This record gives sequence, C-alpha cells and structure tokens, in this order.
Amino acid sequence: MNIKAKELSKIYGRGENRVVALDKVSLEIASNDFISIMGPSGSGKSTLLHLLSGLDQPTSGSLTYDGKDIYGLNDKELSAFRRQRIGFIFQQFNLLPVLTAKENIVMPLLLDRKQPDEAYLKELTDLLGIRERLTHLPHELSGGQQQRVAIARALVARPDIVFADEPTGNLDSKSGGEVMEMLQNIWKKLGKTLVVITHDSSIAKMADRQFVIVDGILSEVTAK
Ligand code: ADP
Ligand code: MG
Repeated sequence: MNIKAKELSKIYGRGENRVVALDKVSLEIASNDFISIMGPSGSGKSTLLHLLSGLDQPTSGSLTYDGKDIYGLNDKELSAFRRQRIGFIFQQFNLLPVLTAKENIVMPLLLDRKQPDEAYLKELTDLLGIRERLTHLPHELSGGQQQRVAIARALVARPDIVFADEPTGNLDSKSGGEVMEMLQNIWKKLGKTLVVITHDSSIAKMADRQFVIVDGILSEVTAK
C-alpha cells in the first residue's frame, strides 16, 4: 500500500493563541517501510500521526492511500476504513478496563461483526508472549503486558499499516525494549508497514527510514 501525504498543515487556535502544530508536511510511505519519527515534546509528532491515520483532519493538505482520498470519506466510511486497514498503538495503551485481554484484542473485529481467526490469534499472542494472560483484566497485567495486548488489538484485523505513538513512553526501559523488539519482530514476520514515534534515539535507529520533526517541520535523516 502506498500512502501519500501532501503539504499537511494543522493550525490550532487563532490570534494570539494560534499554533502551527504541523507545517506543510509531505511524506510518502511504501509497503513494508519501517519509519521512525523523533522530535521534542510539542513538536507535532502526535498531530502528524493522527492526521496520517485519519484520526483527525488537517487545516490544509491531502492524504491518499493507494490513490484514495482519505479526508474525502464520510465518518462511517472513514471509521470502517480505519478499523480494517489501520492499527494504532497509544502511549497509554487505551485498553477497556472491564474487558479481559482477549476481549480487548478482538473488539475491533466484533465492531465489524467478524469472527476472530483463532490460528492467527494464537500466532499473534505467541509472538507477543501473552497467551497465558488472555483471561486477565488490564489491571492484573504489567504495563509491558498491557502494551503487548494493545499491539495484538492493533494487529488483529490484519491492517496494512500500524502507527505507534510513543509506545514505550509509559514503560521502564526493560519492558520498553521488549515491546519494541516484539514490534520489530512482528513487522519482519508479518510484513506490515510500521510508523513509530519516539523520543528515544535507540528506538529511532531500529527503523529503515528515520525522520525528525521540529516545530512542525518534518525532515528525513537517513535512508538505509
Ligand atoms: P508532540 O506529540 O510532538 O508532543 P503534539 O502534536 O501533541 O506534539 O502538539 C503539537 C503542538 O500543537 C503543541 O504546541 C500543542 O500544544 C499543540 N496542540 C496539540 N493539540 C492541540 C489542540 N487540540 N488544541 C490546541 N493546541 C494543540
Ligand atoms: Mg505526542
């Protein structure tokens, strides 16, 4: 899948409160890319990820997935598109506290009235080392385990691309390292496109293509 973002800008507020969160960002993402984006707090990382994944709309600019204009979809089409093609991993895990790990993981499928593919579910939860934890509630799991459940949820509908917004930001360095290693493994094994935001340079270096963002302006650092 080919993703093209063209001159995406996001401006919040007006007058004295005007903030240019994102300034004409253009970016092309090819199938199987592993991209990292690094930048200081407030530089526009989350804003960019929300725009690229259709969670939010830009002030100006366009976004296409295989030529299809994403911001032209209506709300219903866009939610369906996002559930089926895009996985999103949040810094705060965002698991539903009253559902077990397994119920959290399969939730995106249920919303589309689809049955989980048990073999794929087994493969995923094995890769993530959480198969023995599936009947637990989120509060019974460590932070690292909760994030691994969230990763399984992001992957359960077999999306083409996975976006992760500081996936290790709430974890200690050991469990953060494990989570990143698993994400990279899954990326290699399942051939997904992966876009990871981080302010950890050791994580940024795992990617094939490294970007930095400063004051809403994106630039590519390396292309391996
Ligand atoms: P990062 O993820 O790199 O920390 P963000 O993308 O969250 O940065 O924010 C970029 C800039 O946009 C910051 O100055 C932030 O304060 C501002 N911003 C983000 N969301 C909003 C919002 N909903 N309303 C007003 N300003 C916002
Ligand atoms: Mg952020």
